[in-house]
Amino acid sequence: MSAPVSLHSPLDRLVSWFRRGEGEDPWAAPDRTALHRLRYEQIGAFLFQHGLEPSTTNFDFAGRFLDGLEAPLVRAAQELLNAKGSLTDRDVERIVERCAAGETPDKLDKLTRELESKVADCLAAVGDATASTSAYSTALGEAADQMGSEPGEAYRRLLEVTLDVAETTRRIGGRLERTREGTRRLRADLERAVREAEEDHLTGLPNRRGFFARMEETLARPDAAPFALALCDIDNFKAINDRHGHHTGDRVLRFVARFLREDLGRRVTVARYGGEEFVCLFEGADAEEAADLLDGCRARLRERLLRDQTTDLPIGRISFSAGVAPVAGDHADALRLADDLLYAAKHAGKDRVVTSTLPVASAA
Ligand code: GH3
Ligand code: MG
Ligand code: MG
Repeated sequence: MSAPVSLHSPLDRLVSWFRRGEGEDPWAAPDRTALHRLRYEQIGAFLFQHGLEPSTTNFDFAGRFLDGLEAPLVRAAQELLNAKGSLTDRDVERIVERCAAGETPDKLDKLTRELESKVADCLAAVGDATASTSAYSTALGEAADQMGSEPGEAYRRLLEVTLDVAETTRRIGGRLERTREGTRRLRADLERAVREAEEDHLTGLPNRRGFFARMEETLARPDAAPFALALCDIDNFKAINDRHGHHTGDRVLRFVARFLREDLGRRVTVARYGGEEFVCLFEGADAEEAADLLDGCRARLRERLLRDQTTDLPIGRISFSAGVAPVAGDHADALRLADDLLYAAKHAGKDRVVTSTLPVASAA
């Protein structure tokens, strides 16, 4: 596999100009049509080489990988290429989702910057207050020294300094009060933005970011051990979209999300992992117990016959496949194992829960 190349980076454009044939104008802009053709060829060759579907996701991924500008995406792909020599549609889906999860929403960035600037204001006001107190104490000392020789002048000076300090203190007090009020409002905004950034808007479940935040909290509580983690993927979901439309697909996703959450109960954190995939963290259950619980949930979901509310057409039964892994040590290992097991569940015919109680290292 050759290293990623970019036809969009300034360096590549420069190189392509230098490589132009003799007689050509060295400063002419590169031929855009030729560049685009080359780009399509490169992307096509990449997809073909890995046997990837010519889907928009894969096309977009190949372009970004070949651009080489997004370090996390390139690194994730390169690691897999080094390990297995090739990429599958599933690998691409994972990489794209993982890279999207790492993005910080602009709103959060903006609020964080505002909060930092408010804290800086506050610190500056405290600094001014300290400087003013120290100037006052110096002036007081000088006035006290002067009191014996020139009491009138010392008194005048004392009055002046006191009035000055009173004014400065009033100003700093007002500034601190305004900063405090602004910071309180910002904190509320920030808390709301964090909540929104951690929630999946379609299902109301935590999204991947929210899941990881909750998982860290849960795993830090030894009283909740042991832990297991499951990745669930709805079977043949694309067919529902194709037959009944995207809106109905969305309603099915909301239904499955609510079903999982209510059926699995409070000791299980259910989140939307992306697309038609859900991730569950089981507290106080080893992988076998978690798999039993999840399999019961799968069977109960399977009993439900769905109907499209808008058209009254039958949607039929819904099933999912899942991989369940024990969480011991690094949860990234558990996720990887759960993903492999989910893949095995799909290959074994779908509509099933596959687990492994083996330690992650020997099962991998
Ligand atoms: P498999 O049993 O192998 O998992 O097949 P599948 O059809 O479930 O999986 P595939 O990966 O082929 O298709 C997943 C589909 O899920 C494709 C995508 O359009 C759809 N999808 C992803 N997110 C959403 C969403 O938010 N709403 C809707 N309606 N569809 C979504
Ligand atoms: Mg899927
Ligand atoms: Mg699926």
